[in-house]
Amino acid sequence: MTSEHRVAVSGGTHGNEMSGIYLAKHWLRNPMELRRGSFAVTPFLGNPRAIEKCVRYVGRDLNRTFTTEFLSSAEAEDKPYEVVRAREINQTYGPKGSAQAFDFMFDLHNTTANMGACLIVDSEESLLPMHMCHYIQVGPAPDLSTRPALGQGPLRSAGEALELGPQPQQVVRADLFTQMRDLMACALDFIELFNKGTVFPAFEIEAYKITGRMDYPRYPDGEISAMVHPKLQDKDFLPMNPGDPIFQTFSGEEILYEGDTTIYPAFINEAAYYEKKVAFAKMEKHMFSIPGLQRE
Ligand SMILES: [Zn+2]
Repeated sequence: MTSEHRVAVSGGTHGNEMSGIYLAKHWLRNPMELRRGSFAVTPFLGNPRAIEKCVRYVGRDLNRTFTTEFLSSAEAEDKPYEVVRAREINQTYGPKGSAQAFDFMFDLHNTTANMGACLIVDSEESLLPMHMCHYIQVGPAPDLSTRPALGQGPLRSAGEALELGPQPQQVVRADLFTQMRDLMACALDFIELFNKGTVFPAFEIEAYKITGRMDYPRYPDGEISAMVHPKLQDKDFLPMNPGDPIFQTFSGEEILYEGDTTIYPAFINEAAYYEKKVAFAKMEKHMFSIPGLQRE
């Protein structure tokens, strides 16, 4: 792994997730804040049209558009705006894994779920982001932490997604804004140390592996027939055991979890996932041994 000299950070991949949007706008006015000795960071707005309208997207979800299917199909003219935008972003900062691609890209998101900070990483073999999480957990700012969640799957994006919540859509809260700004400062300090050749020893870390999604119960006509149970609300990353109540119907009946193993839900009652038919993401919790890291 060579040094990371070209780093980009996207705010507003979703146009109603305000921490990243106002942070990116702040950095565009104050680029020195992102400067480190060994590298500079390029901030940009992921989905300017959606940001202008303060909606998640205008044509289709940009965060589901960085796939070969959308990036390579011919003629962008009659395609949704986000297909055109995904290609622009891919051409400017990617393609992911190619020689001309930026070395690291942050993708800033908010969730309405009570998830705290969570970095979505491809897998435990992505050593740099795993070490970054660990550095933030044990590093110089003890009040900062971020959990690693592995497996982008449906959460496919252009970079490493940093999720922070809970924050309502279209709202900027100063406490979460400051937390995201501090997390990013800590992550950039980590990259600076990495570039300078710092030896990061091996460690063990708890990480969550995304394994699937749970839909809401539905009436035969497709409308949802129940809400997230009050005992599940806000319990992201906590164990869900067989028999635990997970939904409450509109007439007040409990619906229990029928799985046969303990899982760890996240994105519980995420506002943006109603249209995606997801009440929460299912995850498993594992300990991973991460080998040491040093720049070549
Ligand atoms: Zn988002």
